[in-house]
Amino acid sequence: MAANRGDSAGRFIDLHSHTTASDGTLDPGDLIDLAQKSDLDALAITDHDTFAGYEAAVPHAHKYGLDLIRGIELNTKLILENGERRYLHLLGYWPSSQPSQSFLNWLEEQQQDRRSRNRRLADVLQGKGIDITLEEVEARGRTLAGRPHFARILVEKGYAGNSEDAFDRYLGETAPTFTERQSQTTEQAIANVRAGGGISVVAHPVRLRLTRETERDVLIRLKQAGLLGLEIYHSEHPPELQAHYRQLAEELGLLMTGGSDFHGALKPGIALGTGANGNLRIPREFLDRMREVLG
Ligand code: AMP
Ligand code: FE
Ligand code: FE
Ligand code: ZN
Repeated sequence: MAANRGDSAGRFIDLHSHTTASDGTLDPGDLIDLAQKSDLDALAITDHDTFAGYEAAVPHAHKYGLDLIRGIELNTKLILENGERRYLHLLGYWPSSQPSQSFLNWLEEQQQDRRSRNRRLADVLQGKGIDITLEEVEARGRTLAGRPHFARILVEKGYAGNSEDAFDRYLGETAPTFTERQSQTTEQAIANVRAGGGISVVAHPVRLRLTRETERDVLIRLKQAGLLGLEIYHSEHPPELQAHYRQLAEELGLLMTGGSDFHGALKPGIALGTGANGNLRIPREFLDRMREVLG
């Protein structure tokens, strides 16, 4: 595989990306073309709650001999010792096997839960006199509609100035019309990924907004629940945070992973493989270690 790459070519990878199957703006095939142009050695597609983009990308990846990894990003609820909550994004990876049927069944339930949240959210917005329907949102989201698709419509119709504004006013956690999903706890999701044969990783830990002490306690607790890795490199992690998370992963015995969290035009400043202003270089060894752990 990848025999057409010279030894000097990048041995770099990207373990976090989205396609049009969730809230990315590139089709799976176009994302694979971009991975090839970006000289990536391996790519994981980690759409929210669906494997549809990964599955559609498999034949394209074969064409180039690109090492394509099946991944997913799950919304979970982290309950802190003091009762506070955080929405933790958990990445699941299957770098050398298929997810179990029970995992796929559970994923189907997650998709239904998302759909019911979307329906409630559309109702709540309509109740505020906003002209938006579930059908419109689903037409944008194709296989999997989410809040970013609501945001695009709210912007187009002039209810918000841009996506960030749409989240501040209507969609985000602190907005009056915020509509919650019945997310499972982080521990439950970790257990499901593990039972399904996958590797679970905490995505972009910076977004948890935890003190160093709480962050450490949380990771120890999650490791006891079966967590295997921590996303060290991410477009939102400046170099000093990358160093911090690397040290933490080493200390706690967690696998190190990294990815750009590429969403295409939805997040224009973020490039596949290299992140924001080139702040990423994710070594191939991270993926090799994941495969070793699975044995
Ligand atoms: P959902 O999974 O449908 O609840 O939507 C969550 C997605 O919305 C995240 O993965 C982000 O891509 C996006 N998102 C969340 N908060 C914001 C924000 N404040 N501004 C822009 N996009 C956001
Ligand atoms: Fe997203
Ligand atoms: Fe995320
Ligand atoms: Zn993501």
